[in-house]
Formats: sequence, C-alpha cells, structure tokens
Amino acid sequence: MTDDPRSPKEIAGSHSTVVKPSSLDAKAILIPPQAIKGTHDILPGEVEKWQAFESLARTTFELYGFRELRAPVFEPTELFEKGTGATSDVVTKEMYTFTDKGGRSLTLRPEYTPSVVRAIIEHRLDLEGAPMRYYYMGPMFRYDKPQKGRYRQFHQIDIEVFGEKDAAVDAEIIEMAHALLGKLGVTGTETLVNSVGCRACRPAYSAALREAAGKRRAELCPDCQRKAGTNPLRIFDCKVEACREIARTFPLITDFLCEECREHFARLRTYLDALGVAYRVDPRLVRGLDYYTKTTFEIVTSHLGAQNAVLGGGRYDDMMKDFGGPDVCGTGFAMGMERVLSVAAIAPAPKKTLYLAYLGDEAKRAGLELARFLRGSGVECLVEYKDRGMKAHFGRANKLQAAWVLIVGENEIKAGRFGLKDMASGRQIDGTREELLALLRKD
Ligand SMILES: [Zn+2]
Ligand SMILES: [Zn+2]
Repeated sequence: MTDDPRSPKEIAGSHSTVVKPSSLDAKAILIPPQAIKGTHDILPGEVEKWQAFESLARTTFELYGFRELRAPVFEPTELFEKGTGATSDVVTKEMYTFTDKGGRSLTLRPEYTPSVVRAIIEHRLDLEGAPMRYYYMGPMFRYDKPQKGRYRQFHQIDIEVFGEKDAAVDAEIIEMAHALLGKLGVTGTETLVNSVGCRACRPAYSAALREAAGKRRAELCPDCQRKAGTNPLRIFDCKVEACREIARTFPLITDFLCEECREHFARLRTYLDALGVAYRVDPRLVRGLDYYTKTTFEIVTSHLGAQNAVLGGGRYDDMMKDFGGPDVCGTGFAMGMERVLSVAAIAPAPKKTLYLAYLGDEAKRAGLELARFLRGSGVECLVEYKDRGMKAHFGRANKLQAAWVLIVGENEIKAGRFGLKDMASGRQIDGTREELLALLRKD
C-alpha cells in the first residue's frame, strides 16, 4: 500500500493495520529532549542576575585598565596538558577531549589561562605596548561529578595580567576582586594567601614533601599514593580526611622559599596592608593547578560550606616561556559564577514595560508604528498579536506587571491622541505620541 494518499502521520495515528514501519518507529521513540547531566539552562527571571553580575564585573575590571579578550571554547588538547599541567586532576580526570573529523585531539577548555597565553604568543600582544590586562567571562567544561552547585558546563569570570613582576599587582587584583565582591553583596569573606615558591626553591620543598609522604604512604588514599611519587604538592588538594590529617604534618613551603620568593611574599603583604585588604597566610594553599609560582590566593566565604572558595588565583611566571613564547610573567584569578551567584545579593532593577493595547485591525497597524517610534526612543514596548477586548488587554497587562498601558483604538487614531495608563497609580493621561514619550522619559 505504498500509494496510500494519507500522510504517514495520519496512518500512524489511525487504526489502520497498514502502517509504514518508519513512522511507527518515529512515534515509539518520541522522547522529549533533555539537557545533558551537569549542564543547566539559565532562564528569564534568573538570567537578569547573570546580566547584572557580568555588567558589574565588566565595569569594575575596566576601572582597573582591563580589556576583554575572547578566545575559542575549544583548543588543541596539548595546550591544556602543557599549560594546566599533565599531573593536575583537571587534566588527568576531568577534560572533555574528543577527536574531530580531521583526526585532531581537541578539548573543551577546562580553564581559561592557557588560552590567553596562547593568544598572546600567537598575536604577539607583548610587542604592542598596550597594558596586558585581560578579562573574560564564559563557559568552561570539566567532567566532574555533578552535584548541587557543581556543573560540567560551568561559568567563570577570569582576569589575567602579564608582564608585571611586582608583587603590587598581585595585591591590586586581590583588592579588585574584593571591590567586585562588595558590589555583588558577597559577605563573610576571608582572603587566604601563600607563596608556592619558584623553580629555584620548589624542588627542595618537593623533595622534603616526597620524603614526608613516603613515610606515611600506606595511610594515604590510592590517588595520593600516586601523587606522592609524581607531584606531592597535589596531596594538599585531596578531600579525603585521612589524607588531610597527614598533610597537616608535612613540612611547610614557607621554610623553603628562596630569597627572591620570600621578598616577593613579604612585599605582597605590605601592599595588601596598604590597600586595606585583610588576609590570612595559609601555608598549605597550593591550588589545584601545576603552573603557579610565588603568589597563590583564595577568597572564601563562610556561607558556602566545604566548597567555600568563591575565587582563586595566583602567579604563573613560567607558562608563557614554557609554551615557547617570550619570557613574560603572568598573574590572575578565576571566579566561579554559579558559586558567586549562590551567595551574592544582586537585585536587578525591575523592567518598565509598556503594554500596547490595540482594538481592531487599523489600530494594530497604527500600534505597530507607535511601538516602533517609542522603542526608537528607548521605551520597552510589548505588543501581543491576540485580538483582545479592552478588559482582556488590561488583565494581561496586570499579569505581566506592565508599568504602562498604551491604548490605541479608532477614535485615538482619528484624534492623533492616545491614552496612557500608569498601572501603579491608575492615572490615565491623554496626549500626542510626542507628549507621551516626554512623559515616559521623565518616569
Ligand atoms: Zn623561589
Ligand atoms: Zn588522598
């Protein structure tokens, strides 16, 4: 029965016993699509907070001379293996890596810093003479265990400064972070700072750690047993309580810093004092990535439980050089937007919408033109193309919490004067479109 004149849909929906197999299959597997585990939609109603956050971040960073730098979402895998560090948890366990149709290994960026470093080298931004202060906001990807407030596609705000060796810039960005968190209404914060040393002084510390970890090896979790041999510093990042307990007995980096690192750390603290930023030195703050040198810091808040950092960062003086680029130092931080928003107190200003109520077809055309005129002057207008009566229009405007209703009917068009109702006060004013615009602008 291939000449059945009915559409496949009709056939599938009928009681006919003659059914094209393909249409039956299509119906049988019609499961509505769902977002991938670990991702989330940001819907209207919530997105206004994100927009306010982004706008506050942008204006704050620009005040400190930062400019936006947008890099691609995916990069060659080796960029992160080299930049983020082959032994870091991010690279060993959490990367979204895939082979594209050209046979290249690509990775959805798990963090932003290696991308900026690549962009600087590629465009030789270091030769341009402009300050190398960059910020960025957008999604990052890590195949982490999804749980409340933790996503596989999450969002970060990132800032980086290049070519400034001075500890003053580390202090300046920590102060900038506080300025932003203050505007976001994040309270109960504490700033932790540390120095993780440099290539001159860290090997001796790593050796001491390896020795200390070796003595307690059997008591460490399997993960840390492996780290004890490869990168013992990483043991400080372990969340297993037994490991944390043992890590508390390990030697402290502070006792191993070379003269230059010791000096840099001392200066950092005096600049933080000068900027009025309170802080606590945490000698076990090593951060989860391999590339840090000298300064590391975190801002934590008491409102966040165990995962209490809203922001973390530090200095990475060797990354550019390690990529085969110029010997340009870097420092910066990243903040998790989901996490910050969960403790922020942002109240975006409510929208002032004008609802346009038209009666009849002629008024619809005139209304469209009026809406164009008002929008052209910055008034937010909503027109819904449902032929409603006046009562239904007002009911809808109320439901939408519109600030104003503009009434357009045959009489109004003839007179060239329209009715504008202030929904809060109930006051109604008549006027030409210019008079009404003047009034709306005053509001
Ligand atoms: Zn050093
Ligand atoms: Zn462990």
